[in-house]
Amino acid sequence: MAPPELGRVAVETIDLTTQLTDQFSRPITYLRISVTDKCNLRCVYCMPEAGLPWLPKSNILSYEEIVAIVAAGAKVGLRSIRLTGGEPLIRRDLATLVQQIADFGIEDIALSTNALLLAEQIDDLVRAGLKRVNVSLDTLREDRFFAIARRPGLNKVLAGIRSAVDAGLHPVKINCVAMRGQNDDELESFARLTIDEPIFVRFIEVMPVHENAALQNDAYISSDEILDRLTRIQDLSPAIGPPGNGPARYFAFPGAQGAIGVISPLSHDYCERCNRVRLTADGRLRMCLFGDQHVDIRTPLRAGASQSELIQLLQGAMAIKPERHHLRLGEPAARMRAFSEIGG
Ligand code: SAM
Repeated sequence: MAPPELGRVAVETIDLTTQLTDQFSRPITYLRISVTDKCNLRCVYCMPEAGLPWLPKSNILSYEEIVAIVAAGAKVGLRSIRLTGGEPLIRRDLATLVQQIADFGIEDIALSTNALLLAEQIDDLVRAGLKRVNVSLDTLREDRFFAIARRPGLNKVLAGIRSAVDAGLHPVKINCVAMRGQNDDELESFARLTIDEPIFVRFIEVMPVHENAALQNDAYISSDEILDRLTRIQDLSPAIGPPGNGPARYFAFPGAQGAIGVISPLSHDYCERCNRVRLTADGRLRMCLFGDQHVDIRTPLRAGASQSELIQLLQGAMAIKPERHHLRLGEPAARMRAFSEIGG
């Protein structure tokens, strides 16, 4: 395909104001942007201890390139952006990117982070326009943190969470991958964090990717089992979730300030509500976390594509968004070695 050429032809025939809607009539309003494939942790379910073959620097989108894509998307209904990775806070001056995205009129700007570097960057990020943060944390015990993340740092993560709450970000969510025999004895401690603080703890079913294929068969706990175990501590009622775009179902203890969410990609299918696409650090628009369908945006962008041509590429990509994922326990997602490649 010769993208700019294609773009020029299509611009004449496609309505460039049409909102992004896929072939199953789902409005796509949410873009998750991976700003780097690198990470400062090596979580056992996510990445090999030695890391991965990192993308060459020249393949990584610059902030200007990311902003050009966001600006095009904003013209056709993109309303929410999440910056992720890899670990987004290891990319230099992330607050600058937040500021540039905010300047394009995107109000809902969120961050997914392991929070190791959050406390030291929170002021700049909030000043730049960051609204919400999801922190990944799988244990509240330092020894176990090292066993799961293969790096130390629990206290820094906790300081990062505190800094986000104190800075007034709302909601602050904690994402915890629940793993049998590894952290499932801490489900209750995590759940209790929601009682006195406006914190939303979400338990995620561990998902099969190539590197951890052996791990998750034993480690997998369904979200129904998690809820069942938490209900034995105290009554949980269905709750309205915090603002956001996510697939979680929420529940709360009586009088709690926050709530407990479960994300169930394996046991409950949430694809019919899917509103998102992903931009990889090297500029591919990926249509589903678990499928390989994607459109290369970087090549046309670097060949000088205009905003109209970018819009046409985004609209064209809607045709290949799959109806649902076909993720199954014990079957690693096709051609995906780690979420960090895609921006999980
Ligand atoms: N570094 C950032 C962070 O820690 O949030 C963003 C990237 S990280 C890949 C995004 C999320 O994906 C984290 O919450 C992590 O726990 C989750 N994740 C990675 N691999 C996973 C897997 N195999 N199953 C379930 N969740 C996974």
